[in-house]
Parts: sequence; structure tokens; C-alpha cells
Amino acid sequence: PEKRRADPSLKDLSEDKVAGLLAQNGPFAKVFSGFEHRAEQEQMLAGVTKAMYHNQHLVVEGGTGVGKSMAYLLPSALFALSKGQRVVISTNTINLQEQLMNKDIPALTQVLEESGLVERGVLKAALLKGRSNYLCLRRWNHLARSESPTIDDARLLSKTSVWMQDTLSGDRAEINLSGKDFGSWGHISAGEKGFCPGLRDGSPCFLRASRQRAEEAHIVVVNHALLLSDLARGGGLIPDYQHLVVDEAHNLEDEATRQLGFSIAQDKLDEVWEPQARLTVQVRQAMAAEGLESAIRNEAESAVSTVESEGSRVRQIWARLWSEVERFQANQRSGPGDNGSQLLITPTIRSSQSWDELHLAWENLDVGLQQAAHNVDRLYRFLDSTELPGASDQPALVMEAANLMDDVESLRGQFESILGNPMDDNIHWVSNDQVRGNFTISLNSAPLEIGSTLAADLFQEKDSVVLTSATLSTEGSFDYFKSRVGVGSDSTELLVGSPFDYQKAAQLLIPEDMPAPNSDDYISALVRALTDLGVTMKGHTMALFTSYASLRAVAQRLRAPLMAENIQVLAQSVDGSPQQLMTRFAEEPNSVLLGTASFWEGVDLPSGLLKALVLTRLPFQVPTDPVVKARSDQYDDPFSQYSVPQAVLRFRQGFGRLIRNKEDTGTVVIMDNRITGRGYGQSFLRSIPPCTLTPSSIATVGQLAARWIS
Ligand code: SF4
Repeated sequence: PEKRRADPSLKDLSEDKVAGLLAQNGPFAKVFSGFEHRAEQEQMLAGVTKAMYHNQHLVVEGGTGVGKSMAYLLPSALFALSKGQRVVISTNTINLQEQLMNKDIPALTQVLEESGLVERGVLKAALLKGRSNYLCLRRWNHLARSESPTIDDARLLSKTSVWMQDTLSGDRAEINLSGKDFGSWGHISAGEKGFCPGLRDGSPCFLRASRQRAEEAHIVVVNHALLLSDLARGGGLIPDYQHLVVDEAHNLEDEATRQLGFSIAQDKLDEVWEPQARLTVQVRQAMAAEGLESAIRNEAESAVSTVESEGSRVRQIWARLWSEVERFQANQRSGPGDNGSQLLITPTIRSSQSWDELHLAWENLDVGLQQAAHNVDRLYRFLDSTELPGASDQPALVMEAANLMDDVESLRGQFESILGNPMDDNIHWVSNDQVRGNFTISLNSAPLEIGSTLAADLFQEKDSVVLTSATLSTEGSFDYFKSRVGVGSDSTELLVGSPFDYQKAAQLLIPEDMPAPNSDDYISALVRALTDLGVTMKGHTMALFTSYASLRAVAQRLRAPLMAENIQVLAQSVDGSPQQLMTRFAEEPNSVLLGTASFWEGVDLPSGLLKALVLTRLPFQVPTDPVVKARSDQYDDPFSQYSVPQAVLRFRQGFGRLIRNKEDTGTVVIMDNRITGRGYGQSFLRSIPPCTLTPSSIATVGQLAARWIS
């Protein structure tokens, strides 16, 4: 990082002084009118400051209400300014990114400037996203020149044509993309691979502009996906940095699994090969111009026609491979590793006869894809070395050819890593998913564990990494989290509790007559309790599920009795997307919201809306999921060493949805009797803040919850 960005007036700013900024009578208290001193925040700030100034890694859990973002932003900003360093901050969700960029960093800058600590306009922060988020003007023009764009492409071109005149960032988040727009966006966004003529020739480019802003910034905000893909390719996407803060770090393992894994669906070839027609048509148009030497024309004709004829040949081999995959999956039905819709590919399966046939189909496809890549490469070389006077934008043609070649090559590499030469440290499986009523088959890969990769590429490489979240510990220990993400034992740990008084704010109910979650009466009991809660609390209730099947079953039976009382049911996927449901719940809180998956975390409803939170089941992962199964097999005692801590962290996330602010009060109802009936239940109870536990039954939850808030 360039020293020129250091602020000389801060050269002598000591670690102690930074750590004292949020003290009761410190500079913040004097300048910041809304400042509220929190000992927990001060403690976290001191921990982060120490880690940065002493080049240490820190794992810090900050309970809800600590004010974590300010506790790491303040030392990050001052450290970066005083040392001329760059600090990267990574978040998992867009919400947090927006909060940092639009609220927290501007507030921090204002206070630092008003307190005289930092000169006006010196501190710079930038948001940097993955390349494909930015509109590529060159590709947009290339698509616009296409004579017969698809309906989807044409719609996206018209949707973006006005916006692109005004936008400063070219960031797709500024426009409302939906459904098929996302597929077409890939045709006009900056390519992932970096064949960018404009990066050299200086023509206008949103990607380059955003990178420049990041180069100049002291604080660069990214998301985990970009952070991890930058690590995976050895840098180059994020400007060099040595200091990193990972917020929402509880998502790091899942995001790394996504970034280091991949999925090849049956229709992938269409997506990869789609730009070919546009490319060859435009090359032919350029060739048609007058005055082209016949030798060049012949060479061009040969290069273009081999690429054109490639498509149908590869499609045939492709179709054969997928019918082999289907046959193979059918052969293994009900065998070990098969859970009905997913089949884990184990070494035993690889030695079966049906595997040999699949392997043969792959060998054919491999040759076909190699040939296709070779032919596209030939066209690419031709375009790169021979000027076609009739081409309206030859660099764009070169770029499209390079991108196509790269996409074909990486597709070939992905197949090889699953079907050809699989690595032991990866998990592979066949998946048969129902998408909008149709079954789609896919081949998938994920890393067996990400700890060693992160240890080598992140923790050993960077001077200081601060990992933070409200939920990193299980029963007060960080061991599980640290082992999963590969942070070493030399890292520092800090556990900062919530400043909220949970005894006063939250009541905990565990109905003693709740049937076991796998019993026939379970859904009926859940419906009874939710009806009671919905009516007595006049909505204001959210229930978190671990499966869509039980969510739908409950929603169906809940609707009539609640509708009769004017309470609406908002069920995820049935009544709308998570975002739509949250908006509706905020507008009409006389609702019972039923959510799964993403609702367990990151849902921040406006204060006072949620009065009752129902955790329907302990959120264990599905044990037959290929990734879960393969990872579990690495433990001596998979249940207690892997499944329980993982579920405890998720449970804590879910629990944390209720009390978001100092003023919030409400009731958490746990409808899974294993929490008291099984030994491991204590691990869950010991991991949440101590609340007021009131004895209850299914019939009394509504009444008790209503009494609590009154
Ligand atoms: S530099 Fe790359 S991303 Fe930027 S406009 Fe040019 S081709 Fe597109």
C-alpha cells in the first residue's frame, strides 16, 4: 500500500489513544450528539485496535447491541490513515454493506473531522464488488450491434439504455433486474476472466473506475464472495491489503464452500456456447466489407466455419453424457450415498461398472470440448493478429472470443475434476432438483473443508485478520468456529456480551407437553400454538422452520383460523419472497410470518414489530446432504463434534431475531422438546443469553406471551 495515503498528523496516534476514543468522556462523547457510551463497545474497540497495531488475528464475538461496526471501523480508519495502509472490510450481506457505506462510514467520517482528529476530505472509503456486477460498455455495444438479439437480451438492452447514461457506478444493484434479466446481464457485464482491452486503452469503464476508487481508499468494503474469489485466484481483484476485518464471519465457511465449489447443470452448455453465434455473425459482417485480401478472407472463413460447425457436434456428445449421468443415478438409486434427490459419488461408486460407462462418455466430451476450445482459440488468434477494416469494434470481438475460449476451457476443467481426475479433498455429487416443476440434473463439487485453504491463503498471508459476528461461540468456546475456518491457535479471542438486559427483555417458553418433532401430532401441536399466539398477540409473530415441507403444512392449516380473526399468514415462497414478506410484515404487523433458511439470520425487522418468535425445531443440517455427510465423516463423533455446534450457532442466529434494540421485549417459544429431553439440549440453552424462563404448555403460550409484553 502506498505510503502517500498516510496522514502525517496522525503519525503519533498511539494504540491507547485510539482505544480511548469511545470512552465515556472521550472525543466521541463530546462531538457525537447521539453518542451512547457502551462498555462492551469500548472493550471490542480496544481488542480490534490491539490486533491491528500488533499484527494479530482476532476472533471477536460481539453480542447484539454492542455496536460492532463502529468498534472496528474506528480503529480501521485511524490505523489506515496513520500507517498509510489499506484495511479491507468484508460483509456477507448487501444490507450490512449498505449500512456501512451509507450510514456508519459517513457518520464516522463526520465525527473524526469535527473532532479535529482527521482533516476534512482525507479519509476515503470505497465499495468494491465482483467484476460481473459492473456494466461493460464494450460488451453492451457489442450486444446492441447484434442483428437478432434474443427477447431477453433485447429487453435488458432497453432496460439499461437510459440508466447507463446517468449511472456513475455502472453497478447492477442500481437497476431492477428480475428473472431472465440475470442470464442476459452476463452478456453485458464485465467478464470474470480479465480480457479487457479497455483496461489498457483508457476508454471509459465502470469496472476500472471502481477499482481506482478502491486503490485510493483507506477502507475498502467488499463482500465475502469477492474476498474469497480474490483469494482463490491469488489476488488481483482487490487492491493489495494486509489488514482485514470479516464481519458476519459465521457465514465464512458457507460462502467459501460456494466460492470454491461449482455446479454444472444440464443446460450449462447453452449458456456457455450462447455468445458463439453473435461472435461469428459479427466476424462474418466484418469479413464482408470490401477490400479484404483474399488470403485473409480465406483464413477468416476457415477459422469462423470451424467454430460454427463445432456447436452441433459438442451438443450431441453433451446429450450423450447427460443421459449417462441419468442412467448412472438411476442405477445407484437407494444405494449408499443416495438420499433420493442427491447421490454422493464415493470411491466405491467410482469402481462400479456403471461408472465406467459414464467415464467413457466423459472422455468423449472431454475430447469434444478440447477441440471446441482449440477452434475458438484459433479464431481468437486470428482476430488478435489480423486487422479487419470492416469490424466496428475489433477489440470487442477479440474479447468475446477470449471469453468464449476461457468459458469452454473452464467447463472442461470442471468436468475433469468430477469425472476424470477427482481430488480427495473435494466432495462430488449428482443432484436431481425440481425447478419450477421440472427435474434438472446437475454435477456438483464442493471442498471437503476450507480451513486449510484459508489458513494457507489468508491467515498466513495477512498481517491481521479480525473475524467478528454476534454468533461465533458455542457454550462460550470458539473452538468449533476456529477449526472450521482454519484460524490458528495463536489468534486472540474476545467474547463481548450484549449490553441488553435479556432477563427483562425476553421470556423463554418451552411448552412441556410438546410432542417430539418426528411424531404424528407435532404439526397439529405447532398449529395450535401458532394460532393461539397469532390471535392473542394480534400477529407480531414469526416462526422459523427448518424445512419447506413443514412450513407449507403449517401454513395451510393456520390460514383459516387466523384469517377468521383478521390475522394474515405470510408464508415464505407461498406468499412471496423473503424481502416481500418482510416489507409486508413491517406494513401490516397483524401477521404471522413463517420463514425458513434465510429468515434464521440477517432478518432485522423494525424495532417493536416482533413480539413472539417461535423456533419450531433445533436447526440441525440434513445429515444425508452430500456436503454434510462427507464433512461429518471426518469426525470421530460427528454428532457432538460437528452437528451440535453447527446447529447451536444457527439456533443462536435465529434466537437473535427477537431483541434487536434496547427497547425491544418479547417471547421466544422453543417447540422442539429435544432441548430439554436430550443431553445435547443443554448446549443450546447454555449458548443463549439468560432469559426469564416461564413454565408453559401448548395451551398457555399465547396468554403468557401477551402477559409478558403487557
Ligand atoms: S475495460 Fe473491460 S469491463 Fe471495462 S468497458 Fe472495457 S471491456 Fe468492459
